[in-house]
Amino acid sequence: MTQQSKNEKYAELIKESNPGQCQACGGMVSMEKVNLEDFQDGKLFLMEGIPAYVCQECGEVWVPEPIIKEFENMIETTKKHHQATKKNKKGGNKNEKK
Ligand SMILES: [Zn+2]
Repeated sequence: MTQQSKNEKYAELIKESNPGQCQACGGMVSMEKVNLEDFQDGKLFLMEGIPAYVCQECGEVWVPEPIIKEFENMIETTKKHHQATKKNKKGGNKNEKK
């Protein structure tokens, strides 16, 4: 799966989830590309060029839930991929312990 096709999927998602106006100040929002970042387990996870609504008044960034979920999935997948170097795991069963 290429980054391009993923971003097209996100663009579809965000069109369906248009908030219309800023949830914080009621200002006008416009679609812009943002970077999602999360720091977990000492690693920085980054998704670049994610379409999101940005408020033109207060700068509030609004990313639709499905895209956040995708980002979280990506983090989980990356974590599992790192763990899978020892053991090949399939089926999505949760048996890891921290
Ligand atoms: Zn605002």
